[in-house]
Amino acid sequence: MRYKLGHRHHRCGALRIGAGLSGLTAAVTLQNAGACVQIVEADAQIGGRIRALRQPVTNRALADLGPTWVWPKHQPVVARWLEILGLKTFEQFNQGDAVILGCGPPPQRQPLPGQDGMARIVGGPTALIDTLARRVGNGREGGFRGAWNRPVTL
Ligand SMILES: Cc1cc2nc3c(=O)[nH]c(=O)nc-3n(C[C@H](O)[C@H](O)[C@H](O)COP(=O)(O)OP(=O)(O)OC[C@H]3O[C@@H](n4cnc5c(N)ncnc54)[C@H](O)[C@@H]3O)c2cc1C
Repeated sequence: MRYKLGHRHHRCGALRIGAGLSGLTAAVTLQNAGACVQIVEADAQIGGRIRALRQPVTNRALADLGPTWVWPKHQPVVARWLEILGLKTFEQFNQGDAVILGCGPPPQRQPLPGQDGMARIVGGPTALIDTLARRVGNGREGGFRGAWNRPVTL
């Protein structure tokens, strides 16, 4: 197949649209199966809904702006990917009431049910995206070359 990506042409067997968690895991799966994968992403950054507020100079993640938690006990696919990628989790401190901000003053305290097995990824959820992106980028062919900022209409 021949795709036009940006101003360049690449011969590649698989095109993934979107560099969010789904797109990147699909790309790594396809690449591991021997396919040449190209990813196109409409946004200026990868990760989709997984993103973080970063320190401008060091680029250190300061706060999660999207997802924060994983539930390895209840999300076996997520747990498997964390294992494959060598990412560790740690238990979320989960005692007492949660403090809910943004529902009008004053902050509300209430129990937050359904948090059984709640964990956080060492390095934050963006570590998942960065590690996946490196795997795709290290592929023999394909990867992200010249593919950014180019929405695809099917
Ligand atoms: C505030 C918030 C908190 C959350 N908290 C949690 C949590 O704690 N735990 C949890 O498990 N989940 C949580 N989620 C859900 C989780 O973030 C999403 O399920 C997951 O990130 C979705 O990934 P995705 O790849 O399917 O989609 P997306 O992240 O939406 O990625 C899709 C990508 O495709 C790109 N794209 C779309 N159309 C085109 C096009 N035509 N051409 C090129 N590119 C295109 C988009 O720009 C985007 O980068 C939360 C979500 C939000 C918003």
